[in-house]
Amino acid sequence: MELHLYDSPTFRMACQQFDLVADFMNIPETARDRLKMPKRALSVAVPVRMDDGSTQVFMGYRVQHHLTLGPTKGGIRFHPEVTIGEVAALAMWMSWKCALVGLPYGGAKGGVTCNPRNLSSGELERLTRRYTQELIPVLGPQVDIPAPDVGTNEQVMAWIMDTYSLQIGHAVPGVVTGKPVLLGGSLGRREATGRGVAYLVSRAMDTLGIQAQGATAVIQGYGNVGSVAAVSMAKQGIKIIAVSDAFGGIYNPQGLALNKLNDHVAATRSVVGFPESEPITNEQLLLLPCDILVPAALERQITEENAAKIQCRILAEGANGPTTPEADAILSQRPEIFVIPDILCNSGGVIVSYFEWVQDLQSFFWSEGEVMDKLFRLLEQSYMQTLNHARKNQISMRFAALSLGIKRVHEAKAMRGLYP
Ligand code: NAD
Repeated sequence: MELHLYDSPTFRMACQQFDLVADFMNIPETARDRLKMPKRALSVAVPVRMDDGSTQVFMGYRVQHHLTLGPTKGGIRFHPEVTIGEVAALAMWMSWKCALVGLPYGGAKGGVTCNPRNLSSGELERLTRRYTQELIPVLGPQVDIPAPDVGTNEQVMAWIMDTYSLQIGHAVPGVVTGKPVLLGGSLGRREATGRGVAYLVSRAMDTLGIQAQGATAVIQGYGNVGSVAAVSMAKQGIKIIAVSDAFGGIYNPQGLALNKLNDHVAATRSVVGFPESEPITNEQLLLLPCDILVPAALERQITEENAAKIQCRILAEGANGPTTPEADAILSQRPEIFVIPDILCNSGGVIVSYFEWVQDLQSFFWSEGEVMDKLFRLLEQSYMQTLNHARKNQISMRFAALSLGIKRVHEAKAMRGLYP
């Protein structure tokens, strides 16, 4: 099937991964396009009145990958490099992720091509509201439920909830997750992805027999996922020796003082220039010797260029799609590196988003302890299923996770049949 609408390095990468797993699972050619190609995509022009009085038009997208198991679910990204192909790839990964951890959702993703750092708060609000307005025909608590991703946060989710609710005529908290708690958000949602990463890192250390005390970690991307993962791993006794963001990285072999670093980031909006450290580039950071390497920024960071040179014991993929299939082939020759694949590693975010949606539908809210307990139980089950599947079939953790997720969607489509 022609891919031209979505053609981009990231979508080709998602398709390549899918085809490798489909070969392994002997999925017939006739079933592949039905599983792979996104069900719906909406592309919208988003005109925004800027503070200087001019009007600027931004491109926005929403891709819903499959509708077989329930509404679709997935984050919204505000970033200068957003394309419909990237959004489609991220939607496909969301499908396999939701199926892997057993959530009643198909995958979706959305994005607006913009640089949110260059927008004033008023411009960001107008952009978010107009984008939401354009998406209204395809959104809803039983249709498609957005959440935060790169460049978006609780405030953006609150504007989405408000814009949608104004159209419907009453408050509809279940249309979006990752909202402020006061508006029907879930306790623990903001921290869920990073805490989930740290939980799975500790399970991988158990599997490998690595002690947390004295272990070292390096984190690419010090945003929501990376910073919470850092703090959670530090609580386990792991030393965070380097972190980075889009502006550069910092390194201190003695371990970074995260409390002070978080104050520095709050004041300057970057890790760069943190006093108790030396500067390091993102490329150098990925090659540092460490026990745990956490890519928590964007796709395609571990590539055929650097996969042979990374020096970690555990590669914990906080980001979506950080490792290319070419890099995977190299890593498969390096059994000393244990990969926690993205669709498992960062699934804590969508798991607690699901809990938030359930709480909104019931108007009955849980304590943070309940949320975390349910999160860790689901992660534990998914980790053990993936590990056992990998061991039994002598396949990589990524292959195991993808094949479990794809199998469930494949079977569900077969059970529902083809209409008409
Ligand atoms: P965020 O916007 O909060 O943080 C992203 C961070 O990455 C920022 O610090 C940014 O400066 C940095 N960054 C951007 N480009 C970089 C580069 N080239 N090199 C190094 N750092 C760079 O976003 P987030 O929500 O933390 O998302 C990070 C990753 O985690 C994304 O891949 C996202 O899809 C994935 N993810 C997020 C969630 C969630 O709940 N937020 C859930 C699952 C997966």
